[in-house]
Amino acid sequence: MTHSDALISRRVRRLEDLLQERGIVGGEAVDEVIDAHLAGSNPANGARVVARAWTDPDYRARLLADGAAAVGELGYAAGGVQKQRLRVVENTADVHNVIVCTLCSCYPLRLLGPSPSWYRSEAYRSRVVREPRAVLAEFGLRLPDTTTITVWDSTSETRYMVLPRRPEGTEHLDEPALAALVSRNGLIGTGPV
Ligand code: FE
Repeated sequence: MTHSDALISRRVRRLEDLLQERGIVGGEAVDEVIDAHLAGSNPANGARVVARAWTDPDYRARLLADGAAAVGELGYAAGGVQKQRLRVVENTADVHNVIVCTLCSCYPLRLLGPSPSWYRSEAYRSRVVREPRAVLAEFGLRLPDTTTITVWDSTSETRYMVLPRRPEGTEHLDEPALAALVSRNGLIGTGPV
Protein backbone atom coordinates (compact mmCIF):
# COMPACT_ATOMS: atom_id res chain seq x y z
CA MET A 1 0.00 0.00 0.00
CA THR A 2 1.40 3.38 -0.89
CA HIS A 3 1.41 6.26 1.53
CA SER A 4 -1.51 7.97 -0.21
CA ASP A 5 -3.49 4.69 -0.29
CA ALA A 6 -3.01 4.33 3.46
CA LEU A 7 -4.14 7.91 3.97
CA ILE A 8 -7.26 7.33 1.90
CA SER A 9 -8.04 4.09 3.75
CA ARG A 10 -7.84 5.95 7.06
CA ARG A 11 -10.11 8.69 5.80
CA VAL A 12 -12.62 6.18 4.46
CA ARG A 13 -12.70 4.34 7.79
CA ARG A 14 -13.19 7.62 9.65
CA LEU A 15 -16.00 8.59 7.30
CA GLU A 16 -17.64 5.19 7.78
CA ASP A 17 -17.47 5.62 11.57
CA LEU A 18 -19.01 9.08 11.39
CA LEU A 19 -21.83 7.94 9.11
CA GLN A 20 -22.61 5.07 11.46
CA GLU A 21 -22.35 7.13 14.66
CA ARG A 22 -24.86 9.57 13.29
CA GLY A 23 -27.11 6.78 12.11
CA ILE A 24 -26.88 7.85 8.48
CA VAL A 25 -25.86 4.43 7.16
CA GLY A 26 -25.20 1.09 8.81
CA GLY A 27 -22.09 -1.04 8.28
CA GLU A 28 -24.19 -3.43 6.22
CA ALA A 29 -25.06 -0.70 3.75
CA VAL A 30 -21.35 0.03 3.29
CA ASP A 31 -20.66 -3.68 2.78
CA GLU A 32 -23.38 -3.81 0.13
CA VAL A 33 -21.75 -1.00 -1.81
CA ILE A 34 -18.37 -2.77 -1.64
CA ASP A 35 -19.93 -6.08 -2.71
CA ALA A 36 -21.62 -4.38 -5.65
CA HIS A 37 -18.31 -2.85 -6.66
CA LEU A 38 -16.58 -6.23 -6.50
CA ALA A 39 -19.43 -7.92 -8.37
CA GLY A 40 -18.73 -5.48 -11.19
CA SER A 41 -15.08 -6.53 -11.25
CA ASN A 42 -14.60 -9.26 -13.80
CA PRO A 43 -11.98 -10.18 -16.41
CA ALA A 44 -14.90 -10.47 -18.86
CA ASN A 45 -14.97 -6.65 -18.78
CA GLY A 46 -11.35 -6.39 -19.90
CA ALA A 47 -11.96 -9.12 -22.48
CA ARG A 48 -14.86 -7.13 -23.94
CA VAL A 49 -12.63 -4.06 -24.22
CA VAL A 50 -9.97 -6.12 -26.03
CA ALA A 51 -12.49 -7.65 -28.46
CA ARG A 52 -13.79 -4.16 -29.31
CA ALA A 53 -10.24 -2.92 -29.90
CA TRP A 54 -9.54 -5.91 -32.20
CA THR A 55 -12.62 -5.24 -34.31
CA ASP A 56 -12.77 -1.44 -34.30
CA PRO A 57 -9.52 0.36 -35.24
CA ASP A 58 -10.89 3.76 -34.15
CA TYR A 59 -11.77 2.35 -30.74
CA ARG A 60 -8.31 0.75 -30.51
CA ALA A 61 -6.70 4.14 -31.19
CA ARG A 62 -8.84 5.82 -28.52
CA LEU A 63 -8.06 3.01 -26.05
CA LEU A 64 -4.32 3.38 -26.51
CA ALA A 65 -4.53 7.19 -26.31
CA ASP A 66 -6.71 7.39 -23.18
CA GLY A 67 -7.59 4.07 -21.56
CA ALA A 68 -9.90 5.46 -18.87
CA ALA A 69 -12.03 7.39 -21.37
CA ALA A 70 -12.22 4.46 -23.80
CA VAL A 71 -13.26 1.88 -21.20
CA GLY A 72 -15.74 4.48 -19.94
CA GLU A 73 -17.39 4.32 -23.38
CA LEU A 74 -18.23 0.66 -22.63
CA GLY A 75 -19.54 1.54 -19.16
CA TYR A 76 -16.45 0.71 -17.12
CA ALA A 77 -15.38 3.70 -15.11
CA ALA A 78 -11.78 3.39 -13.97
CA GLY A 79 -11.05 4.00 -10.32
CA GLY A 80 -13.43 4.77 -7.50
CA VAL A 81 -12.66 7.48 -4.98
CA GLN A 82 -9.51 8.52 -6.81
CA LYS A 83 -9.44 9.46 -10.43
CA GLN A 84 -6.98 7.03 -11.98
CA ARG A 85 -5.26 6.90 -15.28
CA LEU A 86 -5.58 3.66 -17.19
CA ARG A 87 -2.82 3.01 -19.65
CA VAL A 88 -3.45 0.21 -22.13
CA VAL A 89 -0.24 -1.27 -23.54
CA GLU A 90 -0.39 -3.17 -26.81
CA ASN A 91 1.48 -6.37 -27.60
CA THR A 92 2.99 -6.54 -31.07
CA ALA A 93 5.17 -9.00 -32.96
CA ASP A 94 8.22 -7.34 -31.41
CA VAL A 95 7.06 -6.21 -27.97
CA HIS A 96 5.35 -8.13 -25.19
CA ASN A 97 4.02 -6.22 -22.17
CA VAL A 98 3.50 -7.43 -18.63
CA ILE A 99 2.12 -5.57 -15.62
CA VAL A 100 3.08 -5.59 -11.96
CA CYS A 101 2.85 -3.43 -8.87
CA THR A 102 6.23 -3.68 -7.18
CA LEU A 103 5.06 -1.62 -4.19
CA CYS A 104 1.88 -3.50 -3.34
CA SER A 105 -0.77 -4.93 -5.63
CA CYS A 106 -2.34 -2.10 -7.66
CA TYR A 107 -4.39 -3.54 -10.45
CA PRO A 108 -7.32 -2.49 -12.66
CA LEU A 109 -9.84 -4.49 -10.63
CA ARG A 110 -12.91 -3.52 -12.59
CA LEU A 111 -11.45 -4.84 -15.84
CA LEU A 112 -9.45 -7.83 -14.60
CA GLY A 113 -11.51 -9.08 -11.66
CA PRO A 114 -10.02 -9.75 -8.21
CA SER A 115 -6.25 -10.05 -8.47
CA PRO A 116 -4.76 -13.56 -8.27
CA SER A 117 -2.64 -14.31 -5.18
CA TRP A 118 0.53 -14.76 -7.27
CA TYR A 119 0.13 -11.19 -8.57
CA ARG A 120 0.26 -9.94 -4.98
CA SER A 121 3.13 -12.24 -4.02
CA GLU A 122 6.57 -10.91 -3.16
CA ALA A 123 8.13 -13.43 -5.56
CA TYR A 124 6.23 -12.19 -8.63
CA ARG A 125 6.58 -8.52 -7.74
CA SER A 126 10.35 -8.69 -7.37
CA ARG A 127 11.22 -11.29 -10.00
CA VAL A 128 9.14 -10.12 -12.96
CA VAL A 129 11.14 -6.89 -13.01
CA ARG A 130 14.54 -8.62 -12.80
CA GLU A 131 13.94 -11.65 -14.98
CA PRO A 132 10.66 -11.24 -16.88
CA ARG A 133 11.55 -13.82 -19.53
CA ALA A 134 12.11 -16.53 -16.92
CA VAL A 135 8.94 -15.62 -15.01
CA LEU A 136 6.84 -15.70 -18.18
CA ALA A 137 8.34 -19.07 -19.11
CA GLU A 138 7.14 -20.39 -15.73
CA PHE A 139 3.63 -19.34 -16.79
CA GLY A 140 4.16 -21.40 -19.94
CA LEU A 141 4.70 -18.33 -22.08
CA ARG A 142 7.94 -18.78 -24.02
CA LEU A 143 8.74 -15.76 -26.12
CA PRO A 144 11.34 -15.63 -28.88
CA ASP A 145 14.61 -13.94 -27.92
CA THR A 146 13.83 -11.29 -30.51
CA THR A 147 10.74 -10.19 -28.56
CA THR A 148 11.35 -7.28 -26.22
CA ILE A 149 9.57 -7.63 -22.88
CA THR A 150 8.39 -4.39 -21.29
CA VAL A 151 7.38 -4.47 -17.62
CA TRP A 152 4.94 -1.79 -16.45
CA ASP A 153 4.97 -0.94 -12.76
CA SER A 154 1.67 0.37 -11.40
CA THR A 155 1.44 3.42 -9.19
CA SER A 156 -1.41 4.84 -7.13
CA GLU A 157 -2.19 7.14 -10.08
CA THR A 158 -1.76 4.78 -13.01
CA ARG A 159 -3.07 1.29 -13.66
CA TYR A 160 -2.11 -0.80 -16.68
CA MET A 161 -3.86 -3.36 -18.83
CA VAL A 162 -2.31 -5.37 -21.65
CA LEU A 163 -3.95 -5.46 -25.07
CA PRO A 164 -2.96 -8.94 -26.30
CA ARG A 165 -2.39 -9.75 -29.98
CA ARG A 166 -5.40 -11.05 -31.83
CA PRO A 167 -4.78 -14.76 -32.55
CA GLU A 168 -4.40 -15.79 -36.16
CA GLY A 169 -7.32 -17.50 -37.83
CA THR A 170 -9.95 -15.55 -35.90
CA GLU A 171 -11.12 -13.33 -38.78
CA HIS A 172 -14.52 -15.06 -38.87
CA LEU A 173 -15.25 -14.55 -35.16
CA ASP A 174 -17.62 -11.87 -33.89
CA GLU A 175 -16.95 -9.68 -30.86
CA PRO A 176 -18.44 -11.98 -28.16
CA ALA A 177 -16.55 -14.98 -29.59
CA LEU A 178 -13.31 -12.97 -29.62
CA ALA A 179 -13.89 -11.81 -26.04
CA ALA A 180 -14.23 -15.46 -24.99
CA LEU A 181 -10.64 -16.07 -26.16
CA VAL A 182 -9.20 -13.47 -23.78
CA SER A 183 -8.03 -14.59 -20.34
CA ARG A 184 -7.16 -12.66 -17.20
CA ASN A 185 -3.52 -13.69 -17.59
CA GLY A 186 -3.58 -12.36 -21.12
CA LEU A 187 -4.68 -8.98 -19.74
CA ILE A 188 -1.83 -9.06 -17.19
CA GLY A 189 0.67 -10.23 -19.78
CA THR A 190 1.47 -13.61 -18.20
CA GLY A 191 -0.54 -15.38 -20.89
CA PRO A 192 -0.51 -15.06 -24.69
CA VAL A 193 -4.18 -13.96 -24.99
FE1 FE B 1 0.10 -1.23 -5.59
